[in-house]
Amino acid sequence: MSVGLAGVALLTGLGLAARHVRSATATPRQRVRVARALMGTEVEVVVWSAAGRASAARAAAEAALDDIARLEGLLSDYRADSEIGRLGRGETVLVSADTRAVLAEARSWSERSGGAFDATRGALYQRWRAARAAGQLPAPGELSALVALGGWDEVREEAGRLRLGRPGMRLDLGGVAKGFAAERASALLLERSFPDHLVDCGGDLAVAGSRDGAPWRLAIPDPRGRGVVATLLVRPGTVATSGDAQRFFEVGGVRYGHIIDPRTGWPARGTASVTALAPEGADALATALYVLGPERGLALLAGLPEAHAIFVAADGAVRLSPGLRRRGAVIEVAR
Ligand code: AMP
Ligand code: MG
Repeated sequence: MSVGLAGVALLTGLGLAARHVRSATATPRQRVRVARALMGTEVEVVVWSAAGRASAARAAAEAALDDIARLEGLLSDYRADSEIGRLGRGETVLVSADTRAVLAEARSWSERSGGAFDATRGALYQRWRAARAAGQLPAPGELSALVALGGWDEVREEAGRLRLGRPGMRLDLGGVAKGFAAERASALLLERSFPDHLVDCGGDLAVAGSRDGAPWRLAIPDPRGRGVVATLLVRPGTVATSGDAQRFFEVGGVRYGHIIDPRTGWPARGTASVTALAPEGADALATALYVLGPERGLALLAGLPEAHAIFVAADGAVRLSPGLRRRGAVIEVAR
């Protein structure tokens, strides 16, 4: 799993959003927050519940974090003993239902995005990780070889077990697994009757219910450190930000981020950050939109009526997909 990109910051103060006025007889409510270092980032769970259920809320939030830790153990490409790590070492693996579910989600986003999102080119992404660590660009010949090393057809299934078809091929779920884990944690909290909560896996969020009666609000920071782009009012569902604000390196004045265009083998450019909102799957969608850029990204969104996005360019220019509206400093879903 890649290091997390805390693209959006949770706003916990009062202010822009109207809060419900509660009657004097309303049950007192309480906010519980727990956080843990997981999946290469800080994972945060916030639950609003009746004050009398605060300790049960805390236990449920801890159980949600435990489940994310378990998923990390299956999905991380940084861990040689994870299911994804073992596949990358050439083993034939009887993978868990969870790993299968993430792979199915990743594959479906590859198909929907015309290959812009591609979890099968982990070898290419790893090469760029090494380039970033060394501060040196890979040789173009190396990249074209790595672009050829992938494809869903090479994820082979034999007697219920998976195997990668080519030596050196790797899967990388860094663009989808944190959001998947956030959605799983959210489902666990719902099962335990905590309908008002937020799970933030370092910028990949699942949001349910309300923040003590008001919509959840997130700050979208400017990707070049110039303050806050806007406050986003989010509906229940998923939100994710992808960008080059935190993981990048520069050579000759050019910024090379960690999201790679799998067709060219080079880091995608042209956008500084994309925040996606969707009933589910915003994590992979944000990564795909980042690769596609605003023009082709908006075309993808046209086929996903419940999904929305905010594109921020390096110069700070903001573009909203048609379903969003801006009122002063606030961006929200229009319909
Ligand atoms: P995210 O921060 O969710 O946008 O995910 C970025 C991470 O996903 C990178 O650090 C890589 O591990 C991986 N990745 C890079 N490029 C792609 C891509 N085109 N499709 C899928 N995953 C990618
Ligand atoms: Mg993503």
